[in-house]
Amino acid sequence: MVGASPSLIYKKLRRRFGFLDWWPGDTKFEIFVGAMLTQQTSWRNVEMAIANLKGEDCLNLKTLSNIRVQKLESLIRPSGFYRQKARRLSGICKSIKKDYGSLRKLFCLEKDELRKVLLSYNGIGNETADSIILYAAEKPVFVIDAYTKRAMHRIDQSIREDIGYEQLQNYFESRVEKRLNLYEDMHAQFVELGKRYCKPKPDCTGCPLNHICEHGIRAIA
Ligand code: SF4
Repeated sequence: MVGASPSLIYKKLRRRFGFLDWWPGDTKFEIFVGAMLTQQTSWRNVEMAIANLKGEDCLNLKTLSNIRVQKLESLIRPSGFYRQKARRLSGICKSIKKDYGSLRKLFCLEKDELRKVLLSYNGIGNETADSIILYAAEKPVFVIDAYTKRAMHRIDQSIREDIGYEQLQNYFESRVEKRLNLYEDMHAQFVELGKRYCKPKPDCTGCPLNHICEHGIRAIA
């Protein structure tokens, strides 16, 4: 066990990648929609879908809760799985409009209650709910994704690769001070790590963690 703490991991990532200023989006609603659309696709495709929604002046709760699903399908088509995503996004917008009136009111809920509500919507799982809570509602919750799981298993092999979402989330939340900017940037850093170095076939030679990662230490020895 090498003993790489989350704060040491973050320090090294931050030094390499700089502050990443996540999540892109001009409004909370745009961040919310982006978090829904990014499921099973690349961010580049989401950007095209968001640009279409903006171009038609549809990127607001009122319009998306009334829009015809076929019209929404055509606008978000670049994001993939567009039929399913359009149905779900439209359904969720309708529910939020009916039950809370606005996204701002929904986001006034206390964090655990907000999480419960988001998870009750068809199409929102743990990662999407927490991304919305962290980046759109701006409440500190640690987002876990496949990049984070893969890297953490390699860094500390006592962490199973199939570790449960909440178990790994508790691991971080019990070790990292709950600060919004810190949680936002830490998640962004893990995504950057996963894209640049800790890929399915890891590129440990240039990785900023190669001296504190169990897998990396063996790989560069
Ligand atoms: S050293 Fe290798 S295995 Fe460890 S985090 Fe970096 S890329 Fe992944």
